[in-house]
Amino acid sequence: MKLALVGIGKIALDQHVPALEASPDWDLAATVSRHGSVEGVPTFADIDTMLAAHPEIGTVSLCLPPVPRFAAAQAVLRAGRNLMLEKPPGATLAEVHILRDLAAAQGVSLYATWHSRMAHGVAGAKAWLAGRTIREGRITWREDVRKWHPGQDWIFEAGGMGVFDPGINALSILTEILPMPVHLRAAELDFPENRQAPIAARLSLSHGIAADFDFRQQGPQTWDMEFLTDAGRLALRLGGNVLEIDDTDAGGQASIMGEYPALYARMAELVRRGSSDVDLSPMVLTADAFTLGSRNTVDAFEF
Ligand code: NAP
Repeated sequence: MKLALVGIGKIALDQHVPALEASPDWDLAATVSRHGSVEGVPTFADIDTMLAAHPEIGTVSLCLPPVPRFAAAQAVLRAGRNLMLEKPPGATLAEVHILRDLAAAQGVSLYATWHSRMAHGVAGAKAWLAGRTIREGRITWREDVRKWHPGQDWIFEAGGMGVFDPGINALSILTEILPMPVHLRAAELDFPENRQAPIAARLSLSHGIAADFDFRQQGPQTWDMEFLTDAGRLALRLGGNVLEIDDTDAGGQASIMGEYPALYARMAELVRRGSSDVDLSPMVLTADAFTLGSRNTVDAFEF
């Protein structure tokens, strides 16, 4: 199946292009990007021109940041093409509701991806937690924004979500593996004095679950979550890729490279079945943190 990739930046080149090249399902037939390109693939500067020039491309995958993504997403769906969205699926919840309804009206597939849900340990964690009672949980998601988002000023602009850009990955795993719904009770957000989005956040969630997100991590990076249940302890490490039960290795794989191939396999399955997959629960928790959270001003941040 022919696919176009839009927004040839960091994640497109790091993950989407290698996953597409290895995929038995997809043929990367065009890109849309003002500055980026993929060798050997036709590039267009705007999406409407690409859609008009390539009626045979049935699916479009958007790797733009969340704020500019909505207009491109509407153009794709209005042109009757299937649509795959990077996380977070929009800048607001209402945008994604509109896209979901538009996809249904057009009879095409919409996939709001959560790449961390495809991490190697997530399915095993979900199976182990089913039927158990969570006593408490701790999420530690601390990374160096300069390493993972070099020079990406959009991430600290309004709608860029700041540290929730990685933090929402943790929330996407949490909402996938827990055997019950979870909601936000309180939050504290640290905004650099020169920025519009938080650089760190601490969340208090139901079921005794606490989350610590920080973009200022130096040295080793930490993407861990640990749960104490009525019948043992579970930990997910390396962004959900490594699973431990009662401090013993219980599966997974110490690599993040399985996530995007799994996303594209899932997209192929959705297109073949003519169905959609749009779960907004991680974004609800994020939006609620901005609504309910108290705000601290911290030191200015420059890349
Ligand atoms: P990025 O490199 O800054 O942006 C991707 C591309 O989007 C850019 O190369 C640019 O392409 C286009 N773009 C940027 N700002 C734009 C604007 N205001 N209007 C129109 N186009 C714009 O970002 P990224 O790191 O790839 O992240 C993109 C998405 O992937 C985000 O939602 C992020 O959460 C998600 N993601 C990122 C990572 C990561 O590690 N970086 C990991 C997983 C998921 P042109 O200028 O060539 O048009």
